[in-house]
Amino acid sequence: QTLEIMETLTAIIQRVRPRAGNRHIERHLGDGHLLVSVDAAMFELVLINLLDNAILYSEVGTRITVEACRNENWCTISIADEGWGIPEADLERVFTRFYRVPRSEPSPRGSGLGLAIARGFVEALGGRIGAQSPGPSGRGTVITISLPLAEETPPP
Ligand code: ATP
Ligand code: MG
Repeated sequence: QTLEIMETLTAIIQRVRPRAGNRHIERHLGDGHLLVSVDAAMFELVLINLLDNAILYSEVGTRITVEACRNENWCTISIADEGWGIPEADLERVFTRFYRVPRSEPSPRGSGLGLAIARGFVEALGGRIGAQSPGPSGRGTVITISLPLAEETPPP
């Protein structure tokens, strides 16, 4: 399938909004037309998990920013939150199956699989995924995904 990333992200954000409470989900999507060849159901599953992570591991009232843009023949998607963050030593480990960051406060329920599935999906498409913490706000986490654009994508 060929998905248009901007409209797909907009639809996915609408689906998680009811779970976001009063966290503000902001979109920074360009008006470009970015096409990526992916399985739509899998793409949604992965993106919904990333947004659910941003919601689950942050306090109410904080901001979540979803950005998508073109970098040459790549589509870059980032999801930034202002939440608990991930310790530097765990930034790679969170992508391994079943790993969950130990916290002093009780963590919300989860299986520790979402990011491992995300990495498997992205790498199978020849893309990359990584985590950065703190984010530009000085706290929280940024997850960045790069996926190769489909050849049909109109030139910038
Ligand atoms: P599930 O499989 O249900 O998604 P999970 O959320 O624990 O469970 P992952 O999505 O793989 O599993 O995330 C792994 C761990 O990484 C989480 O348990 C959490 O400790 C940490 N983590 C992931 N995203 C964030 C985030 N946005 N902010 C802070 N910590 C995060
Ligand atoms: Mg998760």
